[in-house]
Amino acid sequence: MNIALIAHDKKKDDMVKLSVAYQEILNKHTLYATGTTGERVLEATGLPLHRFKSGPLGGDQQIGAYISDNKIDMVIFLRDPLTSQPHEPDISALLRLSDVYEIPLATNLGTAEMLLRGLDAGFLNWRDIAKKRERDSLDI
Ligand code: PGA
Repeated sequence: MNIALIAHDKKKDDMVKLSVAYQEILNKHTLYATGTTGERVLEATGLPLHRFKSGPLGGDQQIGAYISDNKIDMVIFLRDPLTSQPHEPDISALLRLSDVYEIPLATNLGTAEMLLRGLDAGFLNWRDIAKKRERDSLDI
């Protein structure tokens, strides 16, 4: 599965803790991240990941585009609900697209843990069927 990791500045330490704690599970999947989040996760775990631009510089939009292309199966977006963000419209767009395409989305640590454990238990295997169906309908 393709997993997108994003964390606002005050949540980056939480993302590092999460990625260290769930490294074994994350290692079985393909990881994408916004710039600085990806850098922190890479430093802490050495996990291979594709880094997009930093969120405020378009990284959230790049992940949104991947979601609309059906290339992301799960989003872990540790948002800071107490600090206003200059790229709020991009954040809203990313959350919206996750719902449009019914991509499992965690916005806090508790849900992120549940999603990762569910992923490991195979609860997201329906995504493979959804992706195959789309490929078949596009005949690619
Ligand atoms: P960053 O972007 O990982 O580059 O800090 C995250 C965000 O603020 O959306």
